[in-house]
Amino acid sequence: MEIICPICGKRFTKNSVNHHCCSVKCRDRYYNDKRNKYRKKIENSLRRKLEKEEIVHHINLDKNDHRCSNLWVASNRSIHGNAHASINKLIKSLLAAKQIKFNRIKGIYELNGIQENRGDFQI
Ligand SMILES: [Zn+2]
Ligand SMILES: [Zn+2]
Repeated sequence: MEIICPICGKRFTKNSVNHHCCSVKCRDRYYNDKRNKYRKKIENSLRRKLEKEEIVHHINLDKNDHRCSNLWVASNRSIHGNAHASINKLIKSLLAAKQIKFNRIKGIYELNGIQENRGDFQI
């Protein structure tokens, strides 16, 4: 499928490597632009500049949800890492409590028994 690169406007064939952009260079710019956008947003709400080490975390893990209520500033990489590590820990508990299960056919984790409804998923 041919699509247009959002960064340079070039037409290119979409493949598994180039999801959004025509080149690695454009892809880096694309993610940087995206990142700067929500960093700016949180800077405005905090009324200060973010430090270089500070990392913005998406609380509901949806990297496209840049509402301030979904953003949290971690002071550094290791504190941000803790946030993600704590999810993995929770997953272990959820697996033990059979709240989630691994689907061997699809190769993914799923909620056990409950039909996931993405459209209604709100935090
Ligand atoms: Zn491009
Ligand atoms: Zn994060």
